[in-house]
Amino acid sequence: MKSGWRIGSLFGIPLFLDPSWFVILLLVTFVYGSSWQGENWGDGAEWIAGFAMALLLFGSVLLHELGHSLVALSQGISVNSITLFLFGGIASIDKESKTPEQAFQVAIAGPAVSLSLFLLLLAVNQVLPTGEPAQVVLERLAWINLVLAIFNMIPGLPLDGGQVLKAAIWKATGSRIQGVRWSARVGQALGWSAIALGLVLYITEFSFAFLWIALLGWFGVRNAAAYGRIADLQETLLSLKASEAMTREFRVVDAKSSLRDFADNYVLAETHPESYFAASDGRYRGLIIMEDLRQVERSQWDSTTLHDIAQPLSNIDSVEESDPLSVVILKLEDENLRRITVLSPAGAVSGVVDRGDIIRAVAKKLNIPFAGGLIRRIKEDGAYPPELQLPAIARSIQADTPSSPSPQSVSDAA
Ligand SMILES: [Zn+2]
Repeated sequence: MKSGWRIGSLFGIPLFLDPSWFVILLLVTFVYGSSWQGENWGDGAEWIAGFAMALLLFGSVLLHELGHSLVALSQGISVNSITLFLFGGIASIDKESKTPEQAFQVAIAGPAVSLSLFLLLLAVNQVLPTGEPAQVVLERLAWINLVLAIFNMIPGLPLDGGQVLKAAIWKATGSRIQGVRWSARVGQALGWSAIALGLVLYITEFSFAFLWIALLGWFGVRNAAAYGRIADLQETLLSLKASEAMTREFRVVDAKSSLRDFADNYVLAETHPESYFAASDGRYRGLIIMEDLRQVERSQWDSTTLHDIAQPLSNIDSVEESDPLSVVILKLEDENLRRITVLSPAGAVSGVVDRGDIIRAVAKKLNIPFAGGLIRRIKEDGAYPPELQLPAIARSIQADTPSSPSPQSVSDAA
């Protein structure tokens, strides 16, 4: 989440306030201000204390997020932003940690900060005169920090406890994706339980606090589902091979034919650009690149053969049949290609893959109905639809193979 107002930055991390955070500001001020009416502080001090409470809660959540963020920074991972919103805070961290141990450290840092704040505030509280507004506020704030620490350790994504569970499963199975998948499932189950429990209690007890539990559950279910979807996509991009996405949408032409014949018979006759490979004597001689054809003077077209201009297969961008789709996707992006050649183990042309083929293969694997017209458009545009940014997912998989890792966020409920 990066919406809202930028209110500054800490350690180079931009801080944002989501508009929904103001609901919390008002709510906390109101709840505490009214609960302290019996304290007889006078002159509206209860409301000032309530407002101070809201701001201190803001500070507590911010410190919690900074805990996650600073540990991430220490691992060389950049932190895009910290956003405070209705349900707490989110530290948007650029990548996943490289090891389960490091992922555990990032996850546990937030609750560790909250727990430390609890102990620190309790200690400060000891030296303040009892019953003074400052003492009452700080004591309450101490306990809220303890609740923050404990609540966020509930072991389901998107909570910190879910990140800890993920790290544990990752460590145990050696698969980060399995870690995400299972802790997302637990997160969804816990979220639905919270919704059910919150609604039942709200109906029977009619207290707003229970409705809040249901709302938190809904937030949890949505976020856990998003984690689960990303895990599914990551696994699909790893398990699908180039050979499962490629098509035979290419032509093999006689390497001995002249450029003139080739132009007359194929290029001028075709409406869609296709890949052409030149072959002779049962061997592939290379890929015909139209730009190379245009480089040759027209007067030379009769005397120049396709063999002369063909780019040997060893020189062109290619993938192997057994390469995972994530590798294919990144190669298309990094080399800025519309399509890429798939080579067989013997070094012959097996097929070609473009972005439309990739989407079709992924959709089929995940049983997502995908209209043929859309695939055609992706093929023609040579670009993925904005809502399906496979390159980001493909890049995130590099975490498992083990260089550079996945975009993620640590979100917290307050
Ligand atoms: Zn946290």
